[in-house]
Amino acid sequence: GGAAKHEIVISDTSGRPPVSKDSVVDLEFGDPTMYESFWKGMGDRGTITIPSWQTISYFSDATNLCWFLEPEFAQEIRRLHNLVGNAVTEDRRIIVGTGSSQLLQAAVYALSPSDAPEPISVVSAVPYYSSYEPLMNHLRSGLFRWAGDACTFKGDSYIELVCSPRNPDGFLSQAVLKSDGGKTIHDLAYYWPQYTPITGPADHDIMIFTFSKSIGHAGSRIGWALVKDTAVARKMVKFLEISTIGVSKVSQIRAATILKVVSDSYENPIPGNQDKVFAFGRHLLANRWKKLREIVEASGIFSLPEFPSETCKFTGETAEILPGFAWLKCEKEGIEDCASFLRSHKIIARGGRFFGAEPKFVRVSMLDRDETFDLFIERLSSIR
Ligand code: PMP
Repeated sequence: GGAAKHEIVISDTSGRPPVSKDSVVDLEFGDPTMYESFWKGMGDRGTITIPSWQTISYFSDATNLCWFLEPEFAQEIRRLHNLVGNAVTEDRRIIVGTGSSQLLQAAVYALSPSDAPEPISVVSAVPYYSSYEPLMNHLRSGLFRWAGDACTFKGDSYIELVCSPRNPDGFLSQAVLKSDGGKTIHDLAYYWPQYTPITGPADHDIMIFTFSKSIGHAGSRIGWALVKDTAVARKMVKFLEISTIGVSKVSQIRAATILKVVSDSYENPIPGNQDKVFAFGRHLLANRWKKLREIVEASGIFSLPEFPSETCKFTGETAEILPGFAWLKCEKEGIEDCASFLRSHKIIARGGRFFGAEPKFVRVSMLDRDETFDLFIERLSSIR
């Protein structure tokens, strides 16, 4: 038939050259390509076809406060949180965003007083996620501005960003500031069972999650916020209306389909099937962390954070924290800048300064493809 004529071929290399023995190992960003092999193994489960006449309207549900939220997507979000037990969804508004990056901006906008003489300070405890500063400052808003480390902040009017488990160092964290005038936003991008034991459902005023790190689909640019207060939710929706008039329906429908595959695999398991994404992620990260810790211990040049183990309420098993990033510290005498030291060995990682920390630290992504990770381990073990 004529259909094939119009089909386009989707590249699967992310535009990066294939990894070879002497490639530069680029682990600066947290591109979650390790999940590619899992989704390849799922074959056609999660494949969607959308006729050209569908998804034309701007609207998804004109009766909902978040009128651009696809109802099936919202349903699968609630279902997944109930399954995993990582967040309370009762009496919460769901707001979808173009990645959690957009929702962080929407949340800060919604919490900023509109009548203050000065922009409100946005803070986060060091080491903080390196994108917080540009997200807050790039457009030089008159409403809010980045004010750095929450631990050294003085005053009682602020917005604190709490990232738990924390990007870059992996620790579970809580708000450090407590004041009646202060507000908090919880960035729970990594509060999923492959990265950390689930100790209970998170129950905060604003909780932000992302499709990118939960199950690996960063390219769909889907994030969601669970918001307690309706007035705050309304202001966040306003931000999204002004910014992008909503969020791609195609992405939401694809996300709903893929999330349904995930929940189905746990709720209606097929014995012996290797189709559970959190188990896949945990197993792969456990292997990678074991290899990395062995190399680091043998070298004596670097050190890594140590994490306690706890019972994961999702799996029922004792689990340690297996972060999506390695927060590597250079212990070698005379080397102050770990990022440039690694660069001289053809490894690219993000230096500590970007996270408000010392340049002795670097953040290395643990979420890349096997060939990249293996080359990283090989390079690291050759450093003396
Ligand atoms: N928050 C944290 C802590 C992250 O690590 C990331 C991705 N690196 C994001 C937010 C943004 O993710 P996205 O916009 O892809 O949802």
